[in-house]
Amino acid sequence: MLNIALFGPPGAGKGTQSERLIAKYGLLYISTGDMLRKEIASGSDLGKEINEVTSQGHLVSDDLIMRIIRKTINSNPHAKGILFDGFPRTLSQAKLLESLIEELHTRFFGVLSLEVPRQELIERLINRGKVSGRSDDREDVILERLKEYEAKTLPVAEYFEKKGNYYPVNGTGSLDEIFERLVAQIEKHSNLQ
Ligand code: ADP
Repeated sequence: MLNIALFGPPGAGKGTQSERLIAKYGLLYISTGDMLRKEIASGSDLGKEINEVTSQGHLVSDDLIMRIIRKTINSNPHAKGILFDGFPRTLSQAKLLESLIEELHTRFFGVLSLEVPRQELIERLINRGKVSGRSDDREDVILERLKEYEAKTLPVAEYFEKKGNYYPVNGTGSLDEIFERLVAQIEKHSNLQ
């Protein structure tokens, strides 16, 4: 199984590149952000609670994230591998991911990290906000999300760097170029071929 976490700040292009990666490698796609937006769109009480947190740019609880991840994995028992997008986002989620991998008797390829300069991220997200209708793609919320990223998510990068399975990728340039860089890292560091 090929289990990968696609990592990077808001606006790095994780969603776009995920689509290509899951198609190429036949992976189950777990985007915690998409799942949370689906729950919000359903209008449930849980969705309302989630919306209060995400529309301010803050992170929802690890417990809730683990519940939605387990639900997806349990309903797709024959997946060839998993691509996580937007998870792990905290140090404790990184540890939860490792226990999940153990529980599934599989291994973890590592973290592919899309690197994009901060100013470009802000521009991309402001532009996306004009069409996405996402309540968190507004300048004040974008800055809050970047702050959350720097405080809570960057330590995840250091954690996997120390373990030796953190692979940075230049996230600027054309979509094809970026995809090729991701694929090159996968081919280099996995025993697929
Ligand atoms: P982006 O990476 O552009 O911020 P996402 O779609 O990944 O967008 O996430 C949107 C929001 O959903 C986040 O700002 C956060 O509030 C919440 N969220 C997504 N994934 C997680 C997670 N693993 N842990 C906690 N909160 C999360």
